[in-house]
Amino acid sequence: MENYDIIIVGGGASGLCAAVESAGAQIGVRVALIEKLPRVGKKLLATGNGRCNLTNTSASAKSYNAPDFAFGAMSRYGAESTVDFFGELGLLTVCDSAGRVYPSSGTAASVLDVLRFEAERLGVVVMCDTTVKSAVYEKGLFLINGALSAKRLVLACGGKASPAHGSDGGGYVLLESFGHSVTPVFPSLVRLRTDTSFVKPLKGIRAAAEIKLEIDGKISDDAEGEILFTENGLSGIAAMEVSRAVPRLKDRQSCFAVLDLLPAFSYDEIFERVRETARRSPNLLVENLLNGILPKRVGMAICSGISGISLSKPASSLGERLIKAVVSEIKAKRIQVTGTNGFGSAQVTSGGAELSEFDCRTLQSRLVGGLFVCGELLDIDGRCGGYNLQWAWASGRLAGKSAAESLLNQKEQYLR
Ligand SMILES: Cc1cc2nc3c(=O)[nH]c(=O)nc-3n(C[C@H](O)[C@H](O)[C@H](O)COP(=O)(O)OP(=O)(O)OC[C@H]3O[C@@H](n4cnc5c(N)ncnc54)[C@H](O)[C@@H]3O)c2cc1C
Repeated sequence: MENYDIIIVGGGASGLCAAVESAGAQIGVRVALIEKLPRVGKKLLATGNGRCNLTNTSASAKSYNAPDFAFGAMSRYGAESTVDFFGELGLLTVCDSAGRVYPSSGTAASVLDVLRFEAERLGVVVMCDTTVKSAVYEKGLFLINGALSAKRLVLACGGKASPAHGSDGGGYVLLESFGHSVTPVFPSLVRLRTDTSFVKPLKGIRAAAEIKLEIDGKISDDAEGEILFTENGLSGIAAMEVSRAVPRLKDRQSCFAVLDLLPAFSYDEIFERVRETARRSPNLLVENLLNGILPKRVGMAICSGISGISLSKPASSLGERLIKAVVSEIKAKRIQVTGTNGFGSAQVTSGGAELSEFDCRTLQSRLVGGLFVCGELLDIDGRCGGYNLQWAWASGRLAGKSAAESLLNQKEQYLR
C-alpha cells in the first residue's frame, strides 16, 4: 500500500490546480495526482480551439448557475487571482476586448506546461494510465483501488462532456459510492439541432448574428457572436451559448432559435437599403438582391423562404410588402430547435454533484469528512468565454488548499 497525505483523482484543469495548491500549502505534504489517460491535461490542450481561453475578466460568482455556491471559490480565487496565479508560474497572458484571457504564446500547451512543471517542482507524484475504479473510506483513510491510501481525497474527474478527453461520468459513480447525490446531467455549450430546411443549404457558412432562444413564446436566453450553419443545425459560439436550456425542454414545449442576421443595423436602415437597391437596379434578379448585405447563399435562402417571392424574377417584382417581409426575416429568422448534439461534442456538462452536500467555503463533503470535490464534477457551469475554466481553476485551488489546511488543523489539534 502506497500512502499519501492527499490524493487527487483527475489530471484536468481543476485537478492540476488542486495538486499545485495543496502541495504548495505546506512543506512535506505528500500529494499524488491520478489520471486515467496516458497524459494529464488532454482536454486543456483542446480548449479555445487550441489557444485556451483561460478566464474572463468579467467572471464573478454571478456568471454561474448557482452564484451563492460559486461565491465560496470565486470570492477567493476570481479572474484577477487566476491571472496572478498563472503569472507566478511564468505564464504571460493577453486579454481581448471581450475580456477573454489567453496565453500570450497563443497556445494552450503553455498553460498546461506551467501547471505540469509547477506540480513537478512541488514534488507531486503524477500517476497516469491509472483509472480510479474504487474509493472507500475506512478508519480515517481513503483506500484507492485497494492499492493506495490517503488522508484526504479530492475528486476532480470532470463531468460527462467530451469523453474523448477522459471525462466520461466515472466521477459520478465514485461520488455515489460515498452516498452523494448527483443531479440530472445535460450536455451544454453544444450544437443546436434544428429543422434543416433553412440551415442545411447554408452548411459551412459563418455569420455574425444575434441569436435568441424562444421557449413557449418567451425569450429564455440570447447571445451575440459567430454562428455556423451545419447540416442539421447551428453551431458557433453564439448558438452554443444559448444551448443550455434545450436539453431540459419538457414534452410539447416549443423552442425556436430567432436569428438577427444583421444585428448592427436597424430594421429601418436595412429596409431603406434594400428598397433603394431594388429601385436603382429594377432588373437585378431577386437572387442577387441581398448580395451587398449578406453572404449570397444566406440572402437567397431568406428570399426563397417567403411566399410570393421568386428568386429568378427581377427586383422590380417586389412591392413594399414583400421587401418588408424580407427585412423581417433578416432581423428575426425563426428556426425550430429540435434538440442538441450529445455529450460527445459538448464542451461542458450542466448538472452534477448536488451542491447542498458540500461546504462552498472549502468544497469539503458534508457527508464524508476529508472528501473534497472540484471542477465540472460539481453542478456548476457557465457561459462560453473562459468562465468554465475559471471555475475549474478557482474550485481546484480552493479544494486543494482546503484539503491541505484541514490536514494541518488536524495535526495541530493532535499536538495540543
Ligand atoms: C473542446 C473544448 C473546448 C473548451 N474550451 C474552453 C475554453 O476555451 N475556455 C473555458 O473556460 N472552457 C473551455 N472548455 C470547458 C473546460 O475545458 C472544462 O470546463 C474544464 O476542463 C473542466 O475541468 P475539470 O478539471 O473539472 O475536468 P476535465 O478537464 O474534464 O478533467 C477531468 C480529468 O479527470 C480524468 N478522470 C476522470 N475520471 C477519472 C478516474 N476515474 N480516474 C482517473 N482519472 C479520471 C479525466 O481523464 C480528465 O483528465 C472547453 C471544453 C472542450 C471539450
